[in-house]
Amino acid sequence: MSNKNMKTSQISGFYKLPVEKRVEFVQTFADLSAEDFKILKKSLDIQTTDRMIENVIGNFEIPLGIAVNFKINGKEVLIPMATEESSVVAAASNAAKIARIQGGFSVKSTDPIMIGQIQILGIEDIVTAAENIMNEKDKILAIANAQDKILVNLGGGAKDLEVRILESPTGKMLVTHLLVDVRDAMGANAVNTMVEALAPILAEITGGYVRLKILSNLADKRLVTATAVFDKEKMGGEHIIDQFLESYTLASIDPYRAATHNKGIMNGIDAVIIATGNDFRAIESGAHAYAARDGQYTSLTRYWKDDDGNLVGEIELPLAIGIVGGAGSIHPKALVCKKILQISTAQELAEIIAAVGLAQNFAAVYALSTVGIQKGHMSLHAKNIAMMAGANESEIDTIAEQMIQEGIVKLDRAKELLEQLR
Ligand code: NAD
Repeated sequence: MSNKNMKTSQISGFYKLPVEKRVEFVQTFADLSAEDFKILKKSLDIQTTDRMIENVIGNFEIPLGIAVNFKINGKEVLIPMATEESSVVAAASNAAKIARIQGGFSVKSTDPIMIGQIQILGIEDIVTAAENIMNEKDKILAIANAQDKILVNLGGGAKDLEVRILESPTGKMLVTHLLVDVRDAMGANAVNTMVEALAPILAEITGGYVRLKILSNLADKRLVTATAVFDKEKMGGEHIIDQFLESYTLASIDPYRAATHNKGIMNGIDAVIIATGNDFRAIESGAHAYAARDGQYTSLTRYWKDDDGNLVGEIELPLAIGIVGGAGSIHPKALVCKKILQISTAQELAEIIAAVGLAQNFAAVYALSTVGIQKGHMSLHAKNIAMMAGANESEIDTIAEQMIQEGIVKLDRAKELLEQLR
């Protein structure tokens, strides 16, 4: 067997390695070049930053970690995660380790269809206007597709139309949805260009006027699903699974819990979104709107027991992400992170991200329904508190360990311990 076939994302004690050794492991796994290695180590150059947003004064760094143990549709994957929150990377790695006992994550996705909305007002006969739009569908799609020849040549482009008549306090309005296959792009610019180009023709067909013309972030035609079986024995027996399901049930019926439950999912999802230069606001708004699609905000994941008493988890959500276009095409670290993920389509990336969301959620609910969330959080949290108290590199670990032993992780205690130590 060649080295490539023997490649595994499962590595024990990765967290104990020095940073350089971790980078070396990732470099070998993903065939990174010496140049990629340099990019990972250095800060973004200010000229690049200055082209990304307005009024630049510097860069704001977020830690980049690697979640290990992921096996997704049989493929070994290392997950780059950019997050400022401690425990997220460790929890994802841990969940992936349990999931791989029963084969890892199974993922699938729909075609990458985004929705562009065109709001038409001032129409006299709205039902006839809606019919007229559908009768002119071919002409409308052709105008939309003339805006993006590249996308059409790649097999994407505007594919269909939908019309919706909406009631409002100021009267009825006609909302046309343009359905666009955006292939490997997130699609906002591509779709916005198309809907803007369609405004005059839709005004002409309906006899009304067009107000809004913009993409919808409720990308519910661009869905991704990930499932995994979490091993009963590894989890500590069937009673632990029962405890897990009791905890999960609250998220399925109560928005107060569902919000926190879904926040935990986004801990993982956003970290990969950021690491790959994608738009996390687009993903957040889409995910939460989808979680409320039936009128009540609920969990994005579902859990049940299989015939053998193992826990099965599933996540389904819209993921409007791209591997071309947007900031991800400019940001050098995002380019390296995409290389680490070894993906060739946006759908593959979306599927990996869904698996991470499920892993993150499993880890959080597992901890919550057994030892509680604070235990896992404590080690890094204690180090952060020690740092806040003014401890230097050689003092941080001693103070953090002492606070954990005492079960008091507080700033004033850290300050006392620092004084004693000095
Ligand atoms: P883009 O316009 O930069 O790139 C997409 C274009 O790349 C396509 O239109 C196509 O012409 C070309 N392309 C080349 N190869 C392709 C391939 N394999 N697949 C698909 N297209 C390919 O980017 P975009 O994805 O249209 O827009 C994303 C950006 O828009 C993000 O930065 C996002 O933050 C921003 N944005 C978001 C919103 C929103 O979410 N509501 C609104 C406006 C802008």
